[in-house]
Amino acid sequence: MTDSLPTRAALEQAYDDIARIHRTHLAQHGVRLPDKNSYKWVWLAMLHYYEGESVHKNRISDAVRSIYPEAARDQQVRHLKRDGWNIEGARGYHSLSNPYQPSADFVNERARRQGRLSAETFDDLKTSFGNRCATCGAVEGEPDPRYGADLAQLQQGHQDPDADSASFSNIIPQCQFCNRTYLRDFVFDDRGRVRAVADTGPVRRARLSVQRKIWDYLRHKFE
Ligand SMILES: [Zn+2]
Repeated sequence: MTDSLPTRAALEQAYDDIARIHRTHLAQHGVRLPDKNSYKWVWLAMLHYYEGESVHKNRISDAVRSIYPEAARDQQVRHLKRDGWNIEGARGYHSLSNPYQPSADFVNERARRQGRLSAETFDDLKTSFGNRCATCGAVEGEPDPRYGADLAQLQQGHQDPDADSASFSNIIPQCQFCNRTYLRDFVFDDRGRVRAVADTGPVRRARLSVQRKIWDYLRHKFE
């Protein structure tokens, strides 16, 4: 790789080429093509121009700034991953290894969300979670990894115990152990991870030093 950057014309050509690939191979998977109103198109054009090679994000930032001198030095190239692009890399280097396929994580996440949104029955919802407990991953009907002989049985856990639960948007599948243990104490995100407390139980059981920290926080907040 030489030190000179691709010209703007070369980058625009790379962008047009990747836009064509996007149209025929990626759009149907929901991968988002950056338009030319943001700097992102240059990130993608650079990675496509150097297809299969690792490009350092500073070099990509330089390319952006060669076209848009006002752009920040630290362009967050990894965000292309969230848009579904098959970006790999570590330690500041990125590469577009296969531009014809969306990232596997993106496809899985999308299938899960879509399954979840279209779920009309608890069975559908469980399917969209791979018949696993959202919180601990125990598989329905199989021995629970923590409790040996007891078979995991998926129940309708509430993401937020205080929210309206008429629809499935507030329901996550949880095994009987997680459901029983967390009861009404916590609020979960849609992947079954604890996001907030839902009652005073976890505070009452906390160390005094933690209770004091919470007390300080709440006193300042409500005084
Ligand atoms: Zn569980």
